[in-house]
Amino acid sequence: MALIVQKYGGTSMGSTERIGNVARRVAKWHAAGHRVVVVPSAMAGETNRLLGLAREINPHPDPRELDMIAATGEQVSVGLLAIALKTIGVDAISYAGWQVAVNTDRAYTKARIVSIDDSKVRADLDAGRVVIVTGFQGVDDFGHVTTLGRGGSDTSAVAMAAALGADECLIFTDVDGVYTTDPRVVPAARRLEKVTFEEMLEMASLGSKVLQIRAVEFAGKYKVKTRVLSSLTPPDLPVEIEANSGTLITFEEDQDMEQAVISGIAFNRDEAKITVTQVPDRPGIAYQILGPIAEANIDVDMIIQNQSVDGTTDFSFTVPHQELQHALGVMNNKVKEAIGAGEIIGDPNIAKVSVVGIGMRSHVGLASLMFRTLWEEGINIQMISTSEIKISVVIEDKYMELAVRALHKAFGLDQPAEGVATGLAVGG
Ligand code: ASP
Ligand code: MG
Repeated sequence: MALIVQKYGGTSMGSTERIGNVARRVAKWHAAGHRVVVVPSAMAGETNRLLGLAREINPHPDPRELDMIAATGEQVSVGLLAIALKTIGVDAISYAGWQVAVNTDRAYTKARIVSIDDSKVRADLDAGRVVIVTGFQGVDDFGHVTTLGRGGSDTSAVAMAAALGADECLIFTDVDGVYTTDPRVVPAARRLEKVTFEEMLEMASLGSKVLQIRAVEFAGKYKVKTRVLSSLTPPDLPVEIEANSGTLITFEEDQDMEQAVISGIAFNRDEAKITVTQVPDRPGIAYQILGPIAEANIDVDMIIQNQSVDGTTDFSFTVPHQELQHALGVMNNKVKEAIGAGEIIGDPNIAKVSVVGIGMRSHVGLASLMFRTLWEEGINIQMISTSEIKISVVIEDKYMELAVRALHKAFGLDQPAEGVATGLAVGG
């Protein structure tokens, strides 16, 4: 008998018929003797609809009231699911976040969970009930309803699993797991049976949008075993099969994790590049360029600068795509003359492609395999950055898909898991 938290996304909760299927799936786990807490999202499209209503009245509504409105989507879901479970003879009870309570800070529309009181939930589980708790919402220390940011139900579920010390958190969604890359770009992409949370964090932050990134951070911090799996399989799929399906986000860099040197190829087009030319090469320059960018609250991701030969050098960095104009304004108004630079050039047509894998810690030659592969495709690398488990490059965005396909093949990810080692021998 295990304690399991199950999260169902908006698509899974998308109609009363689908909610009926969720109820059958939950009932199956309950009948197998497990203690089950369910954290559902709002029905698909509902959160957008609710936020849209508020913005019809005022394009910039008060965030507190926005949360009051947005949180109702999840409240409808938990009530409907409780009714569906009771209808098929399973004792169930639903709670809103403030009833549990799921305590958050006061940052409306992007609140963070501070603590969860698990006493009510435990009492209901002890009484044999399925407990259904709203995703996405909580309550601050004034008693105001808060929400956790879009996609926040993932975080609610992982946090609930952490608070309860659950054996596993199952994230049921409309994909059947985490893939080596986006199957729409590389049809040969494979589902990973396991991925470490660190790799998942890199992949989530690099644009693979299976799980809200804060949920992954939470899973890492509190060591919550989290599994991403399909809610589109038959609801009566045997529990033993379902329990081993999908992708497990794990911690142990154990024997069977070792073979996968590279777990995936991530990519995104969410960044733009700014280059400052003829920057004087002297102490304080990086601060003088990036200080005003930080003051304007613009995130900087990659940065490159070289030493100068003749006293000046180019300085490039990337910012979120939607912040490009803002950042260019800051550079032109506050930086260019102050440091006596040449030109400020903005380039929105870039993409970032990354190779991710914990095996990088113990294998050499991976960067050279990556660069050789891109060279063989005639793709120019504009920027490079690395971490312990990732190598990222910036390239022209029109080559992004070509790069992802070539790298997926070169790193042996087109083949089943055993092939990975063989593929890497080439570069190693
Ligand atoms: N319903 C919220 C949203 O659409 C939270 C979630 O689904 O995770 O963002
Ligand atoms: Mg989601």
